[in-house]
Amino acid sequence: MTIRIKKDKTSPGLLRTVEKLADVDLSVCFQCKKCDSGCPVSNLTGAPPSEILRRLHLCAGNELLASDLVWMCVSCETCFVRCPMGIDIPSVIDALRGLAVEQKTPAPEGNMPLFNRVFLKTVEMFGRTYDLGMIVAHKIGTKTYMKDAEKFPGMLRKRKIALLPPRGADRKMVKRIFDSVRRAKEKQK
Ligand code: SF4
Ligand code: SF4
Repeated sequence: MTIRIKKDKTSPGLLRTVEKLADVDLSVCFQCKKCDSGCPVSNLTGAPPSEILRRLHLCAGNELLASDLVWMCVSCETCFVRCPMGIDIPSVIDALRGLAVEQKTPAPEGNMPLFNRVFLKTVEMFGRTYDLGMIVAHKIGTKTYMKDAEKFPGMLRKRKIALLPPRGADRKMVKRIFDSVRRAKEKQK
């Protein structure tokens, strides 16, 4: 996806806001693009990590918050490890996600923000991810009931997906972590 900066939507404050939220100094990025080479999703998005930083420098606004990479990033931290300036790009992307949710930015195709929410919900409920619950909730939310349904029997047969929720996790502990994050967020408001 090409990110176009529109004059009427430019947001000079976004760079500073992201720097503050992610606790990073983005002015040290010199666009060497080493972060792009190891990113497992940059081929799919057309907006590799270095471009996100470049766009922030160029005062991108809401169109950046709606870009694919902001939601497709899997937080593998490869870009962070490869960056010669030690820029914590995953934290930058986390900050952009938080702002996108706050500002109710329209979700990109596939509704990855919804996927993020249902992923976190299943972790909160079961202490670990519950793939089937996540898939069902995402399908209901996106009304894509039959999409990829033919893959389901094979996944079951190969035990790639479980019918029942996971056991053994310390659910109370995980719930406490979620609650404390919510309280910390409330205090920040
Ligand atoms: S590797 Fe670091 S310095 Fe190089 S473009 Fe990426 S973020 Fe910028
Ligand atoms: S953390 Fe995100 S942006 Fe960085 S390499 Fe991994 S997927 Fe790409």
